[in-house]
Amino acid sequence: MLGAIAGDIIESIHEFGPPAVPGTPLIKPHSHYTDDTVLTVATARCLLDGVDYATAYREAYQANRDQSWGLQFMQWGDDPDRGPYNSFGNGSAMRVSPIGFWTRSLEDALRDAERSAAVTHDHPEGIRGAQATAHAIVLARTGASGEVILEAVREHHGYALDEPIPVIQRTSRYNEICQGTVPPAIRIACHASSFEEVMQVWIGLDANTDTLACIAGGIAEARFGVPAWIREAAMQGLEPEQVALVERFYKEAGNRPN
Ligand SMILES: [Mg+2]
Repeated sequence: MLGAIAGDIIESIHEFGPPAVPGTPLIKPHSHYTDDTVLTVATARCLLDGVDYATAYREAYQANRDQSWGLQFMQWGDDPDRGPYNSFGNGSAMRVSPIGFWTRSLEDALRDAERSAAVTHDHPEGIRGAQATAHAIVLARTGASGEVILEAVREHHGYALDEPIPVIQRTSRYNEICQGTVPPAIRIACHASSFEEVMQVWIGLDANTDTLACIAGGIAEARFGVPAWIREAAMQGLEPEQVALVERFYKEAGNRPN
């Protein structure tokens, strides 16, 4: 989860701003968390406290209305009677990472990924994006290699995951849907050999960088851990109540029986 949050914070200043300059620090004084972090923390709250996903996401939206939300999500967030709206936006994948770190079996992870997606993103592609991301995290946590993860995600979720990284980098364009962001995020997280490398790949791209780095960051955390300096910088960028929830999440996730 903290890897996803760090990815969001690192790339926050590049989603609508100029691409990062290679060789400059990953986290800058004006780096900040965005909607991706707000909903990731809300997912953790559901797992910790048994709050249902729709309630947690609506409350998180209401408490953070100044973030740049999608129009349909805002309409949903403002109307407690509104059901899912058949979305396949990448919001379902960017908020799912805590499920991959919390659940103790792949079956549980896939079930909870579907539940967390389906309150808004009930289109099959919205659910597939969340499940594929959670699946990759579960496998990475148990020590699977990047190649094994890619093969499992191909087989279970049907993404091709065959684009060479330089092609992804060369052809990447701003994209907000699961089909356009989950495959490159998984591909890059599985191809890299360090957490920093996963963060560096997006630098200079004209892309939905904060969400790409958020999705890839959760998987990269499960593969490599989050380096201490990135962990500390990311935590410093959060609100005190977010820090408290993140700390409680890791403590309780580590203490859960197998
Ligand atoms: Mg964002």
